[in-house]
Amino acid sequence: MIVIDEEKIFDEIKKRRPVSVALNGPDGILPKIQQIASNIMKRFGIPAYVLADTTWGSCDLNSNGAKVLGAEVLFNIGHTISMQTMGDNVVMIDAFDDILFDSVAPKCVDILKGKTICLLTDSQHLHQIEPVKRILEDGGIIVKIGNGKGQLNDGQVFGCEFYPAMGAMEKADANIFLGQSNFHAAGIALATNKPTYVLDPYFNEVREVTDFAQKLQKKATLAIYKAADAQTFGIIVGLKEGQLSKTTALKFKRELEKEGKMVQLFALTDITNERLKNLKGIDAFIQVACPRISTDNQFDKPVLSTPQANALLKLLRNESIEGYLQIPHWL
Ligand code: SF4
Repeated sequence: MIVIDEEKIFDEIKKRRPVSVALNGPDGILPKIQQIASNIMKRFGIPAYVLADTTWGSCDLNSNGAKVLGAEVLFNIGHTISMQTMGDNVVMIDAFDDILFDSVAPKCVDILKGKTICLLTDSQHLHQIEPVKRILEDGGIIVKIGNGKGQLNDGQVFGCEFYPAMGAMEKADANIFLGQSNFHAAGIALATNKPTYVLDPYFNEVREVTDFAQKLQKKATLAIYKAADAQTFGIIVGLKEGQLSKTTALKFKRELEKEGKMVQLFALTDITNERLKNLKGIDAFIQVACPRISTDNQFDKPVLSTPQANALLKLLRNESIEGYLQIPHWL
């Protein structure tokens, strides 16, 4: 069950006395956020809007939505990061999953006894890192927890940012990811090039995602080779506030033009195959918003992320692209 720190929300409202507030969070916890919004309206008598657009990460807060509504505080729930606030008006609220790993962790001991592993997780299970570490160590596994960096806490990863995994990589034989997300675990497998296992407490199973990650990498590499034949590129800047990388977009434009390619610039909030179908005369796209849009979705034309586009430039210059995803941050 997801547990949201509702008291912190109430305390902030008492302290700040806003005229109205907004709340948002990942799709899976929207029903709980609706309930909290109702509680706020009952308790404080102020409007509490649920921003029901997607919010994929702390890069995608939709604080513009809160501004347009005139909400003085936005509570972004569930993207636990090392910061309590973002700017003056966004308050980050933790949401933890209270499921235990007591039953599934010993299954991992059977597979990895005697090995050194790097233990990682997403925001919802961060509080379980230490208890699981103890279970694994008692079973004879050597456990490393890499240091956090920027918004990341120790042992925490985002879908495109893997600093704690890279920090412990040298010494580890494998990675263990706590949670259900193959999405995060596959990113870890690609960034570290090590066998990676998901410790899933809901299915009570240990599953390896190394092959799945290799398939994602093959698809990403194929897209780079296809894009190398393109003459006209569309470079897309993401309009989500934490994904606005105009400098990178303009760098790619300059570099591609040096290679004799034509470039058009686009901006989009949601980059989907459906939206891209409306854009004519483009052979391949580069999007500098969220790298996982390119690796995890199907598009009719090549749509490269930033690390793929860097690899493309190398390919056009006859340089090796080996290890292009083995970096701590895919931006
Ligand atoms: S993977 Fe995408 S949504 Fe997640 S933190 Fe990175 S840019 Fe944001």
